[in-house]
Amino acid sequence: SSTPPAPPEWMKVRLKFATEAPTTAADVREKVTGSGLHTVCEEASCPNLGHCWSRGTATFLVMGDRCTRRCGFCDISTARPLPLDPTEPLRLAETVRSMKLRHVVITSVDRDELPDCGSTHFAACITETKRLNPETSVEVLMPDFKAKPESLQRIFDAAPHIINHNIETVPSLYREICPQSNYAHSLEVLRRSAEAGFMAKTGLILGLGETIDEVKEVIADARTAGVKLLTIGQYLQPTSDHAPLKAYIAPETFEELKSFALKQGFVYVEAGPLVRSSYHAGDALDFLLQA
Ligand code: SF4
Ligand code: SF4
Repeated sequence: SSTPPAPPEWMKVRLKFATEAPTTAADVREKVTGSGLHTVCEEASCPNLGHCWSRGTATFLVMGDRCTRRCGFCDISTARPLPLDPTEPLRLAETVRSMKLRHVVITSVDRDELPDCGSTHFAACITETKRLNPETSVEVLMPDFKAKPESLQRIFDAAPHIINHNIETVPSLYREICPQSNYAHSLEVLRRSAEAGFMAKTGLILGLGETIDEVKEVIADARTAGVKLLTIGQYLQPTSDHAPLKAYIAPETFEELKSFALKQGFVYVEAGPLVRSSYHAGDALDFLLQA
Protein backbone atom coordinates (compact mmCIF):
# COMPACT_ATOMS: atom_id res chain seq x y z
CA SER A 1 0.00 0.00 0.00
CA SER A 2 1.11 3.58 -0.63
CA THR A 3 2.31 6.03 1.99
CA PRO A 4 -0.54 8.08 3.46
CA PRO A 5 -0.61 11.73 2.42
CA ALA A 6 0.99 14.21 4.82
CA PRO A 7 -1.47 16.45 6.70
CA PRO A 8 -1.79 19.80 4.94
CA GLU A 9 -1.47 23.10 6.81
CA TRP A 10 -5.22 23.61 7.27
CA MET A 11 -5.52 20.37 9.27
CA LYS A 12 -2.52 21.12 11.53
CA VAL A 13 -3.64 24.61 12.43
CA ARG A 14 -7.18 23.57 13.21
CA LEU A 15 -6.17 20.51 15.25
CA LYS A 16 -3.75 22.52 17.35
CA PHE A 17 -6.38 25.12 18.11
CA ALA A 18 -9.02 22.51 18.88
CA THR A 19 -7.01 20.81 21.66
CA GLU A 20 -7.26 23.89 23.88
CA ALA A 21 -10.30 22.79 25.84
CA PRO A 22 -12.03 25.31 28.07
CA THR A 23 -12.01 24.57 31.81
CA THR A 24 -15.67 23.63 31.97
CA ALA A 25 -14.94 20.46 30.00
CA ALA A 26 -13.14 19.09 33.08
CA ASP A 27 -16.22 19.22 35.36
CA VAL A 28 -18.29 17.62 32.67
CA ARG A 29 -15.72 14.88 32.25
CA GLU A 30 -15.95 13.98 35.95
CA LYS A 31 -19.70 13.54 35.72
CA VAL A 32 -19.38 11.33 32.67
CA THR A 33 -16.67 9.16 34.19
CA GLY A 34 -18.77 8.63 37.30
CA SER A 35 -21.78 7.53 35.25
CA GLY A 36 -20.14 4.52 33.61
CA LEU A 37 -21.41 5.73 30.23
CA HIS A 38 -19.33 6.08 27.10
CA THR A 39 -19.09 9.28 25.11
CA VAL A 40 -17.99 9.31 21.51
CA CYS A 41 -16.40 12.68 22.25
CA GLU A 42 -13.84 11.01 24.53
CA GLU A 43 -13.52 7.62 22.92
CA ALA A 44 -12.97 8.93 19.43
CA SER A 45 -10.64 11.63 20.89
CA CYS A 46 -12.78 14.09 19.02
CA PRO A 47 -10.89 17.33 18.36
CA ASN A 48 -14.06 19.33 19.05
CA LEU A 49 -14.59 18.10 22.62
CA GLY A 50 -13.79 21.36 24.41
CA HIS A 51 -15.95 23.35 22.03
CA CYS A 52 -18.97 21.04 22.24
CA TRP A 53 -18.95 20.27 25.97
CA SER A 54 -18.53 23.89 26.98
CA ARG A 55 -21.57 24.65 24.83
CA GLY A 56 -23.75 21.94 26.32
CA THR A 57 -23.55 19.28 23.62
CA ALA A 58 -22.23 15.75 23.98
CA THR A 59 -22.60 12.44 22.17
CA PHE A 60 -23.25 9.24 24.14
CA LEU A 61 -22.62 5.75 22.89
CA VAL A 62 -25.24 3.31 24.20
CA MET A 63 -25.74 -0.45 23.88
CA GLY A 64 -22.10 -1.17 24.70
CA ASP A 65 -18.75 -0.51 23.10
CA ARG A 66 -18.55 -3.65 20.96
CA CYS A 67 -20.09 -3.62 17.52
CA THR A 68 -21.30 -6.52 15.39
CA ARG A 69 -20.16 -4.72 12.23
CA ARG A 70 -16.69 -3.82 11.10
CA CYS A 71 -16.50 -0.54 9.21
CA GLY A 72 -13.05 0.30 7.94
CA PHE A 73 -13.09 3.89 9.18
CA CYS A 74 -14.46 3.21 12.66
CA ASP A 75 -12.47 3.01 15.86
CA ILE A 76 -15.05 0.97 17.79
CA SER A 77 -14.04 -2.63 18.35
CA THR A 78 -15.78 -5.47 16.57
CA ALA A 79 -16.57 -8.31 18.99
CA ARG A 80 -19.42 -10.33 20.38
CA PRO A 81 -21.34 -7.71 22.36
CA LEU A 82 -22.28 -8.07 26.04
CA PRO A 83 -25.96 -8.25 27.07
CA LEU A 84 -27.77 -4.91 27.12
CA ASP A 85 -27.82 -3.16 30.50
CA PRO A 86 -31.45 -2.41 31.45
CA THR A 87 -30.29 0.39 33.80
CA GLU A 88 -28.64 2.29 30.96
CA PRO A 89 -31.61 4.40 29.78
CA LEU A 90 -32.11 5.88 33.25
CA ARG A 91 -28.38 6.38 33.86
CA LEU A 92 -28.14 8.18 30.54
CA ALA A 93 -31.07 10.42 31.38
CA GLU A 94 -29.57 11.27 34.79
CA THR A 95 -26.16 12.02 33.32
CA VAL A 96 -27.65 14.34 30.71
CA ARG A 97 -29.40 16.13 33.58
CA SER A 98 -26.29 16.44 35.73
CA MET A 99 -24.27 17.73 32.76
CA LYS A 100 -27.04 20.30 32.10
CA LEU A 101 -26.88 19.54 28.40
CA ARG A 102 -29.05 21.59 26.13
CA HIS A 103 -28.54 19.20 23.24
CA VAL A 104 -27.67 15.53 23.46
CA VAL A 105 -26.77 13.15 20.69
CA ILE A 106 -27.49 9.48 21.39
CA THR A 107 -25.72 6.99 19.20
CA SER A 108 -24.96 3.30 19.45
CA VAL A 109 -23.07 0.38 18.10
CA ASP A 110 -24.96 -1.96 15.77
CA ARG A 111 -26.53 -4.93 17.55
CA ASP A 112 -27.34 -7.11 14.58
CA GLU A 113 -27.33 -10.23 16.79
CA LEU A 114 -30.52 -9.12 18.61
CA PRO A 115 -33.92 -9.84 17.04
CA ASP A 116 -34.90 -6.15 17.30
CA CYS A 117 -31.33 -4.94 16.61
CA GLY A 118 -31.52 -3.13 19.95
CA SER A 119 -34.28 -0.77 18.81
CA THR A 120 -36.38 -1.31 21.96
CA HIS A 121 -33.45 -0.38 24.21
CA PHE A 122 -32.46 2.55 22.00
CA ALA A 123 -36.03 3.86 22.10
CA ALA A 124 -36.02 3.57 25.93
CA CYS A 125 -32.85 5.69 26.02
CA ILE A 126 -34.68 8.43 24.10
CA THR A 127 -37.83 8.19 26.21
CA GLU A 128 -36.00 8.35 29.55
CA THR A 129 -33.74 11.19 28.41
CA LYS A 130 -36.74 13.23 27.30
CA ARG A 131 -38.67 12.44 30.48
CA LEU A 132 -35.93 13.73 32.81
CA ASN A 133 -34.79 16.53 30.51
CA PRO A 134 -37.83 18.16 28.94
CA GLU A 135 -35.79 21.23 27.94
CA THR A 136 -33.01 19.29 26.23
CA SER A 137 -33.20 18.54 22.54
CA VAL A 138 -32.48 14.95 21.64
CA GLU A 139 -30.80 13.93 18.43
CA VAL A 140 -30.24 10.28 17.59
CA LEU A 141 -27.47 9.03 15.38
CA MET A 142 -28.83 5.58 14.88
CA PRO A 143 -27.96 2.30 13.20
CA ASP A 144 -29.98 1.16 10.19
CA PHE A 145 -31.78 -1.51 12.32
CA LYS A 146 -31.61 -3.46 9.03
CA ALA A 147 -34.32 -1.00 7.88
CA LYS A 148 -36.97 -3.13 9.61
CA PRO A 149 -40.19 -1.07 9.77
CA GLU A 150 -41.16 -2.26 13.28
CA SER A 151 -37.74 -1.31 14.65
CA LEU A 152 -37.89 2.11 13.01
CA GLN A 153 -41.40 2.62 14.36
CA ARG A 154 -40.14 2.16 17.95
CA ILE A 155 -37.73 5.03 17.42
CA PHE A 156 -40.44 7.17 15.81
CA ASP A 157 -42.73 6.50 18.77
CA ALA A 158 -40.02 7.74 21.17
CA ALA A 159 -39.99 10.98 19.13
CA PRO A 160 -36.45 12.36 19.13
CA HIS A 161 -36.07 15.91 17.81
CA ILE A 162 -33.67 14.94 15.02
CA ILE A 163 -33.07 11.55 13.41
CA ASN A 164 -29.59 11.16 12.03
CA HIS A 165 -28.36 8.14 10.19
CA ASN A 166 -25.03 8.40 8.47
CA ILE A 167 -24.61 7.19 4.91
CA GLU A 168 -20.85 7.57 5.60
CA THR A 169 -19.47 6.92 2.12
CA VAL A 170 -20.36 6.51 -1.55
CA PRO A 171 -22.06 3.27 -2.70
CA SER A 172 -19.06 2.11 -4.75
CA LEU A 173 -17.00 1.92 -1.54
CA TYR A 174 -19.56 0.14 0.65
CA ARG A 175 -18.25 -3.33 -0.05
CA GLU A 176 -14.73 -2.34 0.90
CA ILE A 177 -15.42 0.16 3.69
CA CYS A 178 -18.62 -0.98 5.40
CA PRO A 179 -19.29 -4.50 4.09
CA GLN A 180 -22.16 -5.33 6.48
CA SER A 181 -24.05 -2.14 5.62
CA ASN A 182 -26.22 -1.47 2.64
CA TYR A 183 -26.65 1.83 0.82
CA ALA A 184 -30.29 1.13 -0.04
CA HIS A 185 -31.08 0.32 3.61
CA SER A 186 -29.54 3.56 4.76
CA LEU A 187 -31.54 5.59 2.26
CA GLU A 188 -34.66 3.68 3.30
CA VAL A 189 -34.10 4.55 6.98
CA LEU A 190 -33.77 8.21 6.06
CA ARG A 191 -36.75 8.18 3.71
CA ARG A 192 -39.02 6.57 6.33
CA SER A 193 -37.84 9.01 9.00
CA ALA A 194 -38.58 12.01 6.79
CA GLU A 195 -41.94 10.56 5.78
CA ALA A 196 -42.84 10.06 9.43
CA GLY A 197 -42.35 13.82 9.84
CA PHE A 198 -38.92 13.86 11.47
CA MET A 199 -36.09 16.24 10.70
CA ALA A 200 -33.78 13.78 8.95
CA LYS A 201 -30.04 14.21 8.90
CA THR A 202 -27.15 12.32 7.37
CA GLY A 203 -23.38 12.50 7.24
CA LEU A 204 -20.49 11.65 4.96
CA ILE A 205 -16.78 11.28 5.56
CA LEU A 206 -14.41 12.04 2.71
CA GLY A 207 -10.88 10.99 1.95
CA LEU A 208 -11.60 7.28 1.50
CA GLY A 209 -11.08 7.29 -2.26
CA GLU A 210 -14.47 8.59 -3.44
CA THR A 211 -14.81 11.02 -6.34
CA ILE A 212 -16.51 14.38 -5.91
CA ASP A 213 -19.14 13.44 -8.51
CA GLU A 214 -19.99 10.34 -6.49
CA VAL A 215 -20.38 12.49 -3.38
CA LYS A 216 -22.74 14.79 -5.26
CA GLU A 217 -24.84 11.80 -6.31
CA VAL A 218 -25.15 10.70 -2.69
CA ILE A 219 -26.14 14.23 -1.68
CA ALA A 220 -28.83 14.23 -4.38
CA ASP A 221 -30.09 10.77 -3.31
CA ALA A 222 -30.32 11.89 0.32
CA ARG A 223 -32.29 14.99 -0.66
CA THR A 224 -34.68 12.87 -2.74
CA ALA A 225 -35.19 10.70 0.35
CA GLY A 226 -36.29 13.83 2.23
CA VAL A 227 -33.13 14.54 4.24
CA LYS A 228 -32.70 18.21 5.20
CA LEU A 229 -29.56 18.31 7.37
CA LEU A 230 -26.11 17.26 6.23
CA THR A 231 -22.60 17.01 7.63
CA ILE A 232 -19.51 16.34 5.54
CA GLY A 233 -16.14 15.85 7.22
CA GLN A 234 -12.64 14.58 6.65
CA TYR A 235 -11.76 10.95 7.43
CA LEU A 236 -8.78 10.58 9.77
CA GLN A 237 -7.29 7.10 9.86
CA PRO A 238 -7.30 5.91 13.51
CA THR A 239 -4.60 3.22 13.07
CA SER A 240 -2.73 1.51 10.24
CA ASP A 241 -5.26 -1.37 10.49
CA HIS A 242 -8.07 0.93 9.41
CA ALA A 243 -9.13 1.87 5.89
CA PRO A 244 -6.29 3.82 4.30
CA LEU A 245 -6.59 7.57 4.17
CA LYS A 246 -6.52 8.34 0.46
CA ALA A 247 -6.71 12.13 0.47
CA TYR A 248 -7.06 15.29 2.50
CA ILE A 249 -9.94 17.15 0.95
CA ALA A 250 -9.28 20.85 0.41
CA PRO A 251 -11.46 23.38 2.26
CA GLU A 252 -12.58 24.77 -1.13
CA THR A 253 -13.95 21.34 -2.07
CA PHE A 254 -15.95 21.23 1.16
CA GLU A 255 -17.27 24.69 0.30
CA GLU A 256 -18.22 23.53 -3.18
CA LEU A 257 -20.09 20.52 -1.76
CA LYS A 258 -21.83 22.71 0.78
CA SER A 259 -23.17 25.08 -1.87
CA PHE A 260 -24.15 22.13 -4.04
CA ALA A 261 -26.14 20.65 -1.14
CA LEU A 262 -27.81 23.98 -0.30
CA LYS A 263 -28.84 24.34 -3.95
CA GLN A 264 -30.34 20.84 -3.79
CA GLY A 265 -32.57 22.04 -0.96
CA PHE A 266 -30.79 21.05 2.25
CA VAL A 267 -31.63 23.58 4.95
CA TYR A 268 -28.49 23.20 7.07
CA VAL A 269 -25.09 21.94 5.98
CA GLU A 270 -21.82 21.69 7.92
CA ALA A 271 -18.89 20.81 5.68
CA GLY A 272 -15.20 21.06 6.51
CA PRO A 273 -12.10 19.18 7.57
CA LEU A 274 -13.05 18.92 11.26
CA VAL A 275 -16.76 18.46 10.88
CA ARG A 276 -18.23 15.43 12.69
CA SER A 277 -21.82 14.28 12.47
CA SER A 278 -22.59 15.84 15.84
CA TYR A 279 -20.49 18.97 15.25
CA HIS A 280 -22.40 22.14 16.13
CA ALA A 281 -25.40 19.86 16.55
CA GLY A 282 -26.99 22.22 19.07
CA ASP A 283 -26.42 25.21 16.80
CA ALA A 284 -28.14 23.39 13.95
CA LEU A 285 -31.20 22.94 16.10
CA ASP A 286 -31.21 26.60 17.17
CA PHE A 287 -31.00 27.52 13.52
CA LEU A 288 -34.00 25.34 12.71
CA LEU A 289 -36.05 26.71 15.57
CA GLN A 290 -35.37 30.27 14.44
CA ALA A 291 -36.01 29.51 10.78
FE1 SF4 B 1 -18.62 15.05 20.85
FE2 SF4 B 1 -19.63 15.21 18.39
FE3 SF4 B 1 -18.72 17.37 19.58
FE4 SF4 B 1 -17.02 15.52 18.76
S1 SF4 B 1 -18.32 16.80 17.45
S2 SF4 B 1 -16.99 16.55 20.77
S3 SF4 B 1 -18.19 13.67 19.15
S4 SF4 B 1 -20.48 16.17 20.26
FE1 SF4 C 1 -18.56 1.66 13.85
FE2 SF4 C 1 -21.17 2.00 13.43
FE3 SF4 C 1 -19.70 0.58 11.72
FE4 SF4 C 1 -20.23 -0.38 14.15
S1 SF4 C 1 -21.72 0.04 12.49
S2 SF4 C 1 -18.25 -0.46 13.13
S3 SF4 C 1 -20.18 1.50 15.38
S4 SF4 C 1 -19.50 2.78 12.14
